[in-house]
Amino acid sequence: MRSDIEKVPLSISSIGTQRQLVLYRFGAGRPGPKIYLQAGLHADEPPGMVILHHVIKMLQERDGEPRGEIVIVPCANPIGLSQRIQGYHAGRSDLGVGGNFNRNFPDVSAPIVENISTLTTKGEVVDEAIVKLALRRAVAALVPKTELDSMKQTLLGHAIDADYVLDIHCDDEAVVYAYVSDPAHPAAKLFSRHIGSVVTIGGSYGPGTFKDSCFRPWRAAQEVLPNVSMTGCLAATLEYRGTRDVRDELAIADARGLISFMEATGVLDPSSAEHLENNSRHITLDCVDYIQADAPGIILFSKGPGDFIEAGEEVAQILDPSTGERTIVAARCSGIVFGHVASRIAVPGSSIASIAGTSPLPKEAGDPFP
Ligand SMILES: [Zn+2]
Repeated sequence: MRSDIEKVPLSISSIGTQRQLVLYRFGAGRPGPKIYLQAGLHADEPPGMVILHHVIKMLQERDGEPRGEIVIVPCANPIGLSQRIQGYHAGRSDLGVGGNFNRNFPDVSAPIVENISTLTTKGEVVDEAIVKLALRRAVAALVPKTELDSMKQTLLGHAIDADYVLDIHCDDEAVVYAYVSDPAHPAAKLFSRHIGSVVTIGGSYGPGTFKDSCFRPWRAAQEVLPNVSMTGCLAATLEYRGTRDVRDELAIADARGLISFMEATGVLDPSSAEHLENNSRHITLDCVDYIQADAPGIILFSKGPGDFIEAGEEVAQILDPSTGERTIVAARCSGIVFGHVASRIAVPGSSIASIAGTSPLPKEAGDPFP
């Protein structure tokens, strides 16, 4: 399969240096569904970058053309990849003033609603193709001030009109899990089945993640066009295990899962009639227990990713070696422990483990992973 490789320069932040994003495009401009995949927005999360390397290879070795368009950005954050502090890589947050790289993406919902309202007031027919065009124009109209702004605009600009947006991340130590924009989307269950997600979480911490900035304008358009048939966008944040789960054999298996999702959605011709069980636990975000440390010390985990836990059962102990005192950390709900932090040093108030429960829990204030 033929791919076009595009190199998009970012705006310059310091004299003598200009970074670029490299995109692989398959089936450029072909009618049909569009899927957008990126990895490494949190630049210290390498599994996805290797997975997408294998997806690109598999597509290039495949015969024919896609039924729609596939856009892949294997390294979505050249700014974060370049950040070092005294020899240690720091890729989660901008060391300037930009904060967490997966927050504060622009939301073009307001201009989309305004644009659609103007067209419908004039009596023009607005369908899904017109909405996609309006989405592309709204992102193109953003005026980036910084290199980070230009990176966000470039990523969003290539994803905003896609039917499927997969933003690939990882946890510190975890099973495969995912956040989806809209659990009711017709492809949401297909998605979790093909990627092998143990837990699939509907919802979001709040606006400003890449996933939300791709999904929200679609939802806004659907709300002002209730009589227009639109499938909209399935946007997902995929968490492929932990930061150290970086091996070719794992990445190849995950890449095959992504390819089979593309086949299931009709972006690619199906190559096999493989039947996959859907074993994923589908829950909403308010059912997740993001367990916080309430004492400083050393974390001694009693449960690990993939373990089942009962409400009230011990997840970890936090040991203060200077006094010998131990603080028990217990689960607030029964469910699967799907991830925990890599650091074993507890800071009060920080999230140390995540449990997928089955019913809503009292809401904790703030972003569990700022
Ligand atoms: Zn991440």
